[in-house]
Amino acid sequence: MRLVRDVLEQAQKNGIAIGHFNISDLVLLKAVFDAARELNLPIVVGASQEERNFMGVRQIATLVQSLREDFDFSIFVNADHTHSLPKAVEGARAGFDAIVFDASALPFEENVARTKEAVEALKAINPLILVEGELGDIGTGSQIHDKAPDLLKGLTNPEEAKQFVDSTGIDILAPAVGNMHGMLKSMVRGEKKKHLDIARIAQIKSATQVLLTLHGGSGTDDEDLRKAIAAGINIVHVKTELRVAWRHGLEGALAERPAEIVPYKILPFAVESVKRVVLSRLNLFGGR
Ligand SMILES: [Zn+2]
Repeated sequence: MRLVRDVLEQAQKNGIAIGHFNISDLVLLKAVFDAARELNLPIVVGASQEERNFMGVRQIATLVQSLREDFDFSIFVNADHTHSLPKAVEGARAGFDAIVFDASALPFEENVARTKEAVEALKAINPLILVEGELGDIGTGSQIHDKAPDLLKGLTNPEEAKQFVDSTGIDILAPAVGNMHGMLKSMVRGEKKKHLDIARIAQIKSATQVLLTLHGGSGTDDEDLRKAIAAGINIVHVKTELRVAWRHGLEGALAERPAEIVPYKILPFAVESVKRVVLSRLNLFGGR
């Protein structure tokens, strides 16, 4: 049996990170899976509450499980940014391999209490499930933003991170280290890149000794990503870049073939467009 924990621990030993790509339709899933198979690198597919609402919670989990079994491939499914215990429980029961329980908008003590409660409830359903907690502010919404949020006030403090990990029992921590969800227009145009607080990542890793996820990876400087992985990041989330590529691929196909109505003749363009982004990110995360 392939387990997400084993894959993450092996990747950590090899000094590489696992790519986490959000999906909300079959085009994105096909693109992500095709890219991962081409490079023979394990991947995690993510779906936020809204993405799960659109595709169906059990349906996403079942699709990913069927790919894992039919192709004997390390592809896993994560319930991204889950804000309530009932939604987290629903994900665990549906067969998700990991759950991001995100109570980071609450004050520290409440975040600890709610996350600890979620860890206990989810491990009771599936002892092998990985639970990720979030500490700090990485913004909301994987969209195109008009202006940059003030990231400095929400950065994760290493001592607080240790206290958070110790008191909640989480398997994975999502810190705020200069990363943010979504992209600015200038980032979509490639004029501006996100930069990360590498020293803070190293301090959080050494204080917590736990698996770390970098959320909001889209638009991040390549060299910063390499350094972040070397400093202890184990999973990198990419969503907005895929959404941009999805839209561009679709627009291109529709413009090129204005009379075409057959979905499987239009959608492969979107698959290819997304796949190119996934290939390039996977190569980077995999140290190639
Ligand atoms: Zn996120």
